[in-house]
Amino acid sequence: MLDATPKEIKVRSSGGLINPAKTCQPIGAMYAALGIHKCLPHSHGSQGCCSYHRMHLTRHFRDPIMASTSSFTEGSSVFGGAANLKTAIKNVFTIYNPDIIAVHTTCLTETIGDDLPTIIKSAEIPEGKLVIHANTPSYQGSHITGFSNMVKGAISYLAESTMPVKKDQVNIIPGFVNPGDMREIKRIAKIMGAKFILFPDTTGVVDSPMTGKFEMYPKGGTTIAEIKDTGNSKLTLALGRFASSDGAELLEKKCKVPALALKTPIGVKATDEFVMALRRFAVREVPYELEEERGQLVDIMTDTHFHFHGKKVALFGDPDILTGLTEFVLSLGMVPVHILTGTPGGAIGSGMGSFEEDIQEMLTNAGVTANVKGNGDLFTLHQWIKNDPVDLLIGTTYGKYIARAEDIPFVRVGFPVLDRSVHSYFPIVGYRGAMRLIEMISNALLDRQDRDAADEDFELVM
Ligand code: SF4
Repeated sequence: MLDATPKEIKVRSSGGLINPAKTCQPIGAMYAALGIHKCLPHSHGSQGCCSYHRMHLTRHFRDPIMASTSSFTEGSSVFGGAANLKTAIKNVFTIYNPDIIAVHTTCLTETIGDDLPTIIKSAEIPEGKLVIHANTPSYQGSHITGFSNMVKGAISYLAESTMPVKKDQVNIIPGFVNPGDMREIKRIAKIMGAKFILFPDTTGVVDSPMTGKFEMYPKGGTTIAEIKDTGNSKLTLALGRFASSDGAELLEKKCKVPALALKTPIGVKATDEFVMALRRFAVREVPYELEEERGQLVDIMTDTHFHFHGKKVALFGDPDILTGLTEFVLSLGMVPVHILTGTPGGAIGSGMGSFEEDIQEMLTNAGVTANVKGNGDLFTLHQWIKNDPVDLLIGTTYGKYIARAEDIPFVRVGFPVLDRSVHSYFPIVGYRGAMRLIEMISNALLDRQDRDAADEDFELVM
């Protein structure tokens, strides 16, 4: 299928991407909006964009994803979509009755230049209902940028500082992770005794149970009151710089809530940092329950070390997930030789830092040399692998074509995973998530060893 990918790497003068390692901004915005209770995401653009975004999320989460659209026609594409959006807002509140509509733009409406704040101000919004928006042009950034933009949009419309003294509560922005991860983040925060607001929170929305009754707005999601109250918290923990930091910084600017950026808590070190941040906030010792989990994880890492040691691995996906994964595979004794994200990774040398610099720093500390790229594509990753083969590939479903072409064991992690189910219910974050990752990686490597073993080397105990 990818047999035509050449080994020789040539500089591409067109600057075009081949098999992007990312998807569009509105998908991230839609996902973040689903993390608000009784919110209907609204796609301001043509029906095709909205269908694609809903379908992509539905395929990953295996749950119906609700969203409405401004349904652009040729006329609105030429004359602007103000009338469509105003009609949509009126119809959506009348027919679907959400508490809040979260509007995001698409390439078309960004190109036309529709002025969303002005359109929303002049729309008919029923008493007690809300409309927020985020600009999400898909020719910039990725779904991670879109997620970050919608988090910022919600904070800028809703968060407010209403108390003279901040409350003893911490905001946690989890980043673009599965509901299984969000549940684990909440479980850890609860064990640490911290009063917290997780925003966005898609648990109970995209992993809602089958009850036999269709619910347009399932039980989950951060309530509007909670999002407003984030402005009264003492601290915001932004888990993952690319998806969460901008929202946390806006909250700091708008409501004077200090922001602390941490890595997505994947692996021992990043989870330790998350737990210690909660420990400092809650001013309490780490309960034995978490110590025990950590100890079990370290025991498992020691027991399985020989499966991983020296194995070369290629990683691709979203930047926050990759930062955690790179640190974790290094701690397992693996050698990450190719690391690529499709999301633009921030300018090298900028004050904000860059994906490539962050990863290179980790690799340098570990004495490892690797290909690292932000804003890359899977064609580049495939070429890297052809030139420097690996023992394992970790990434989203799109990696299966490379894995097949090069006959490499493949572990599916990140967004989207479209060809396997149940994954979104289980975490990869926290100590338990790290145990699950070890099981997935270890099984992939051992299955391959079994497949390739000569009869005399086919072992019962491995
Ligand atoms: S037109 Fe833009 S927003 Fe719509 S699906 Fe394509 S890339 Fe995404």
